[in-house]
Amino acid sequence: MQTLPPLHFYNSKTRQKERFTPITPGFVGLYLCGPTVYGDAHLGHARSAIVFDVLVRYLRLRGDKVRYVRNVTDVGHLVADADAGEDKIGKMARLEQLEPMEVAQRYTNTYRRDMAALGCEPPSIEPLASGHIPEQIAMVEQILKEGLAYESEGSVYFDVRAYQARYGDYGQISGRVVDELLAATRDLAGQEEKRHPADFALWKKADPTHIMRWPSPWSVGFPGWHIECSAMSAKYLGTEFDIHGGGMDLLFPHHEAEQAQSHACHHHSPVRTWMHVNMVQVNGQKMGKSLGNAINLRQFFTGDHPLLEQAYSPMTIRFFMLQAHYRSTVDFSNDALQAARKGLRRLVNGLGALDRLYAMRPQFGPEDVDAGLETQISAEVATIHQALCDDLNTAQAVAGLYALLKRIQTLAGKPEGLVRVSDAGLDLLATSYRTFFLDVLGLKVEPNDLTPLQDGLLAQYKTAKETKEWATVDALRGLFKAAGLLIQDGKHGSFVAYDEN
Ligand SMILES: [Zn+2]
Repeated sequence: MQTLPPLHFYNSKTRQKERFTPITPGFVGLYLCGPTVYGDAHLGHARSAIVFDVLVRYLRLRGDKVRYVRNVTDVGHLVADADAGEDKIGKMARLEQLEPMEVAQRYTNTYRRDMAALGCEPPSIEPLASGHIPEQIAMVEQILKEGLAYESEGSVYFDVRAYQARYGDYGQISGRVVDELLAATRDLAGQEEKRHPADFALWKKADPTHIMRWPSPWSVGFPGWHIECSAMSAKYLGTEFDIHGGGMDLLFPHHEAEQAQSHACHHHSPVRTWMHVNMVQVNGQKMGKSLGNAINLRQFFTGDHPLLEQAYSPMTIRFFMLQAHYRSTVDFSNDALQAARKGLRRLVNGLGALDRLYAMRPQFGPEDVDAGLETQISAEVATIHQALCDDLNTAQAVAGLYALLKRIQTLAGKPEGLVRVSDAGLDLLATSYRTFFLDVLGLKVEPNDLTPLQDGLLAQYKTAKETKEWATVDALRGLFKAAGLLIQDGKHGSFVAYDEN
């Protein structure tokens, strides 16, 4: 493989693009905040999972070994920002009359199912918060020992002012002005246990009606939301690791709190590069239940929502998201998804066209090879690598893939040109196109229930052509056309492709 350009990522903490080199050369530790499992997965979950799936795939293509940890929050995520709230999963369990773990299991299952449909490979480790209570308690004990937390009425709170006085980096990741946070005179009503409104819970004493609870040195209770990610990332990736990812909505308070807890515990900052994925909009608006536009992934896959004109396949959703850079917002609309579907089909047709190039190739000799063509193909491939190395710019990588597609189409349309491409040039074109499409962007040709039927009809079509039964030929063409497919006749036989018009 050619030498690849160095990687650069935008680090939320320093607010600039930085050269990325793993702490241990050849090994990358990556932690991504996973879902809180109290409801069906939505576009925001999908976007984070897809972006980091592509990052992991690309790092692995470059030869790095990646340990990809993505947690499942099955306890401790409070309903409100305020620490006085109720556990989201506990609340859902009460509403649905289920065991809390039944709720968590159900939505963990649907989350995994939907991410698999979107072509996201499972993480290397998928730790559950509820399975790491001792680790979280140990961390809270350590922070107490450091004098950066305090116990109050059976709960434990992180002391933001004391932390800030010692380390001074609270607010760095989110860009929040800490003086303002600390000067906040927000009412402490209902949270009188706290010394300051900016303090957050490390451990909460459970009231008698609370259904998820564990014993601890302070009370029977449950961990705060932020502490799980500090505890589980340190356990599986070490106290300093390469990349921490998540949605932009997690910048504050979640990631700010996470970094402060880990720093307080281990005396150094836990993460080299913080990467945040921007938000998803629907028809130009933020998604929200009150706006009636909170469409979950299943509804996209089935088309079962009043705002959707049709079903959109998982690969259409994935491809649509990858057409945007991860730090830009993406706006979902029927028009945009239909355009993405069409664009994806053009790329799929490119895969079929490539196969045919190889079938045609033996008929052309190597006598007229034009070395310039191979150089051009090589430059086009390099452009795609450059895009991915430049802060994972999948938007530009997709544009680069279309440039390769154009070359494939030119060769398929005028196969005489194959004489002029060297074997190495054609192999580079074919391998790169397939690798970027399938292995890096993680797209796939979606199985179609009609495929066996299609093959049978195509065989009939070929027979009818040979026997010159033109009425049958026309009828079969019409059938394919109605299904959005075209039969194309070439010197080397007939084949089916998506209708690109
Ligand atoms: Zn997290």
